[in-house]
Amino acid sequence: MRKVLDPESVDEIHRLIKGSNKIVLTCHVHPDGDAIGSTLGLWHLLKKLGKDPSVVVPDLLPKSLRFLPGANEIAVYTRHDPYCTRLVEEADLIICCDFNTASRQDHLAPLIQSSDAPKVLIDHHEDPDMDCKVVFSFPKMSSTCELVFRVIAALGYYGDLGKDGATCLLAGIITDTQNFTVNCPDPEIYEILIALLDKGADKKRIIDECVKACSYDSLRLKSFALSERLEIFPEHRAIVTSLSKEDLRRFNYEKGDTEGLVNMPLNIRGIVYSVFMREDDDQIKISARSKYDFPVSRICSDLYGGGGHLQAAGGEFVGSLEECKRLLIESMDKYDEYLPSKIEKIDWRG
Ligand code: 5GP
Ligand code: MN
Repeated sequence: MRKVLDPESVDEIHRLIKGSNKIVLTCHVHPDGDAIGSTLGLWHLLKKLGKDPSVVVPDLLPKSLRFLPGANEIAVYTRHDPYCTRLVEEADLIICCDFNTASRQDHLAPLIQSSDAPKVLIDHHEDPDMDCKVVFSFPKMSSTCELVFRVIAALGYYGDLGKDGATCLLAGIITDTQNFTVNCPDPEIYEILIALLDKGADKKRIIDECVKACSYDSLRLKSFALSERLEIFPEHRAIVTSLSKEDLRRFNYEKGDTEGLVNMPLNIRGIVYSVFMREDDDQIKISARSKYDFPVSRICSDLYGGGGHLQAAGGEFVGSLEECKRLLIESMDKYDEYLPSKIEKIDWRG
């Protein structure tokens, strides 16, 4: 495996880990497979090293991740504020995984930010804006879990990574790459896959729980969205799918039920980007995905105060669903310049 990490940063995190006992691992709000996989993966490793680590997350994890070994030991800030506060206050090291700016931690941000403990950032989002003693930031990497694996290997702790830690890391890699279909052009990812499988990572369970499993209501909600709430803008190679509060209620929506929906319209030949809007209680949540390096992160930061990766981004909008949609539709012209010329002749109906 190529050595991509800066040796000084590796030495520095090594020194910090060796010198601390109570280590808090934390991630972004609405934690996904990569956020939970990276924090829990490190949690398992640090326990093996004899440390006293804890995972503190802003809010509840989706059902699809609750099978991960150690998931029931995660401290959820919205559920156990005083407990999380104590863990963070007592921490002598904080490792931030899978986010690039404090605001991605939402209401947990002030607590983490107010801690005097040294912080380490391990992340793969562009333009990190965090005050951390050590920063591992690799936007080209498939996932934070891949990066965590590389950090563990560089520290010489591969031997201490057990089956459970390997399962957590593999869960993040599989979910962030949509099962090795996106964001993983570097063939070294398969060396890492082999190394994790060698450790006994439970790939079958990850595929069953994180990739395939959904509830009856969720399958019906997604099917409804695709057949009734999908709008196509052929000249812009775009799809907009939106679900109102009323739609969500009709299918007994629970958090996580629309996971993966935004990717589905991208399968249509000739479509370059897909935007999904969900009317939550207090705001509209926007999720966007693209092919061909079309920068949906730019759309999300320009229009919806968000960001993310070139091909997977999100944001938020306060206002009505109609206004949220109109803002995008009226701005589509501006982003046509990023459409690849080679797909011009593809007929989306074929
Ligand atoms: P998802 O569509 O799965 O919610 O998010 C995809 C990616 O977009 C995330 O990994 C994250 O990088 C980014 N993202 C999603 N929502 C937001 C947001 O509200 N603000 C910012 N800055 N990034 C977001
Ligand atoms: Mn990630």
